[in-house]
Amino acid sequence: LSNKDWKDYDRVVNRLEDICQLAKELGIGIMIDAEQSYYQEAIDHFALHLQQKFNRIQDTHHEALVYNTYQMYTKSGQHKLERDTRWAEQKGFTLAVKLVRGAYMVSETKRAKDLGYPSPIQDTLEDTHASFNGAILFLLNKLQEHHCSTRQILSPTTSPVVFMIASHNRESVVLTVEEMERHHVSPQSGVIQFGQLYGMQDQISYILGKNGYSTYKYLPYGMIDQVLPYLVRRVQENSAVLESVSKEQQLLLQEIKKRFLFKKEEDPEITPPV
Ligand SMILES: Cc1cc2nc3c(=O)[nH]c(=O)nc-3n(C[C@H](O)[C@H](O)[C@H](O)COP(=O)(O)OP(=O)(O)OC[C@H]3O[C@@H](n4cnc5c(N)ncnc54)[C@H](O)[C@@H]3O)c2cc1C
Repeated sequence: LSNKDWKDYDRVVNRLEDICQLAKELGIGIMIDAEQSYYQEAIDHFALHLQQKFNRIQDTHHEALVYNTYQMYTKSGQHKLERDTRWAEQKGFTLAVKLVRGAYMVSETKRAKDLGYPSPIQDTLEDTHASFNGAILFLLNKLQEHHCSTRQILSPTTSPVVFMIASHNRESVVLTVEEMERHHVSPQSGVIQFGQLYGMQDQISYILGKNGYSTYKYLPYGMIDQVLPYLVRRVQENSAVLESVSKEQQLLLQEIKKRFLFKKEEDPEITPPV
């Protein structure tokens, strides 16, 4: 790297640290999105640096501030998650994870083909599902190990990992809820959150929230000519959303009928344990 590159690098680090410092003072978290694999190494580098600085377990009133995103549709996803968990343990900071399947499958596969290197993306949808669900089990297991070795009640201030399941996939959400119950992780513990896009799989977010699970809705905002293409891309990549459109229509119809007929409230579909 040239001297100028190093100066640019320092400026990026300083700006990112300023943002995190402000977030810390305001008491809000920062989630760093994941992008295409050819940028991701750099994003991970900065994210780990920020986590090491702002998620330190020894800090007073410690609570993980910076989340990094792990794309489980990549073949390297599980390895990265395990590597960073070990690194966080060694360096004494909380690994804060946003778990996603991944949004750039088409462009990644095309680029790999055009440039003649093996695609970084899992070969099949089933492999991606297995990788994503495997990561959920891996992270829950980390919580369990921590609880068994320290006997501490799980909380964001003591936990070695905290994570968000950012997914519209019903099976993955149900798996998480069932495993939380099996491992006695309370919905209110604050160590596991769920995230869906606003307007997508709202019925899942609604039921999770109603049962006390920490649930976030991502609300994209901006100019209409930027937001609409973004939302169209999101719908295209979300097979879980497309498959459930008729289900969602059915639930909406049910809700409309209920309101008109003043029927007693009934919970649709999944009912996670309280
Ligand atoms: C709150 C939130 C934040 C997000 N942030 C990010 C982010 O920072 N970076 C990012 O990249 N994405 C992000 N996403 C999008 C996410 O990665 C997925 O694209 C999207 O959520 C669809 O996956 P799913 O788990 O909801 O369910 P599904 O609809 O069950 O899964 C669809 C996903 O499976 C994978 N897939 C589909 N077909 C195949 C195939 N043939 N082979 C292999 N894999 C396949 C793709 O990843 C596809 O997106 C975010 C999503 C949410 C809800």
